[in-house]
Amino acid sequence: MRPTGRLHLGHYLGVIKNWLKLQEEHQCKFFIADWHALTNKYKETDSLKENIRQMIIDWLSCGIDPEKATLFIQSGVKEHAELSLLFSMITPKSWLELNPSYKDLKFNLYYQYLRDFLAGKQIKIIQTPPPQPYEEALEKSTGKQKSKIFEDYLREAFHKAFYNQKGIDFKGFKDVLIKFGIQKKIAQEVVKNLEEGDVGKDIDTVGFLAYPVLQAADILIYKADTVPVGEDQLPHIELTREIARRFNNLYEPVFPEPQALLTEEAKLPGIDGRKMSKSYNNAIYLSDDEETVNSKVLQMKTDPQRVRKTDPGNPEVCIVFDYHTIFTDSQTVSEINAKCRNAEIGCVECKKILAESLNNFLQPIRERRKEIEADIHRYEKIFEEGTEKARAVASETMSEVRKAMKLWQF
Ligand code: SF4
Repeated sequence: MRPTGRLHLGHYLGVIKNWLKLQEEHQCKFFIADWHALTNKYKETDSLKENIRQMIIDWLSCGIDPEKATLFIQSGVKEHAELSLLFSMITPKSWLELNPSYKDLKFNLYYQYLRDFLAGKQIKIIQTPPPQPYEEALEKSTGKQKSKIFEDYLREAFHKAFYNQKGIDFKGFKDVLIKFGIQKKIAQEVVKNLEEGDVGKDIDTVGFLAYPVLQAADILIYKADTVPVGEDQLPHIELTREIARRFNNLYEPVFPEPQALLTEEAKLPGIDGRKMSKSYNNAIYLSDDEETVNSKVLQMKTDPQRVRKTDPGNPEVCIVFDYHTIFTDSQTVSEINAKCRNAEIGCVECKKILAESLNNFLQPIRERRKEIEADIHRYEKIFEEGTEKARAVASETMSEVRKAMKLWQF
């Protein structure tokens, strides 16, 4: 896991919960991928150590157990870098250029730039999807088409332009912006900057392009047979298998071909209904205190059609209810379901029940967090010991690799 900041509930449900189960059933190695954090954040090293520390606290306070799994920090096992270097010698460049996540990350960077640029020109980006066709909604809401734009439409149009079969179509996108009501001059300027500016240059590095090779080394150096991943990571596991095959064919069969263990993606949205993410400022963190959780829950979007308490609601389109189904006991959930539909419960009351459920869930994590924070050096030591253990295994594999490749043995 890349140490890029505090963990939130989405991370817990999508990754940590699964790890807690896996550590009971397998010999697991979980590591803090600090070198991977540098692949696109190489300028932001000031916060790296603190992020690693926060990750140690987050993992341990959730119950990731150093007695059951090896926990370590990637950059402490230099053998990852050595194997990655050797793999880079045998990996065709085209395998990396075709890597889909490379393009996705580029899309996100460009899109973020576009949003920031428009916001800087006082063009308001409205996050709630309009209830009717775009043009109609704009006219009804403001009558001032030039100052507002709906996020959903903007993103969809930009996505179409970016993933155009004939390559990125920024020119066509400019026309779409103008159709959206953006002044021609502004549309021209933003498109020019996207085409010629510095956007995306940060990931135009060898390190970023080659990070799947480092990932393959991370996995294969422990001869891992299984890697728990989300669907978006499947191409990386396939690449790892291809690198292992290529190495085994060229030299000697050293590496097994690991299998992906598909983890279901967590369906927990952020408090505004979009994907939970630090950059959207819509996340509930594992380290949030009771008061913060209460206030975030009060801000949550509910069924947009339910204006008054006397209106019947629809829990199926309500984020608060999504959270209830995960964090509240099933009896209360079915009561809320019925009461909401019959307008027998108000949203504020419903949110208070949710805040209580979330605080009950987070309380034991908060208590462990306090203990760990009070004695942080002891827990950092646990990761250092884990790093030693991992290094012992990694260096055995490297001896085999050097022998297979007929390299000098030091
Ligand atoms: S009562 Fe609860 S489930 Fe129903 S709309 Fe309000 S917050 Fe959502």
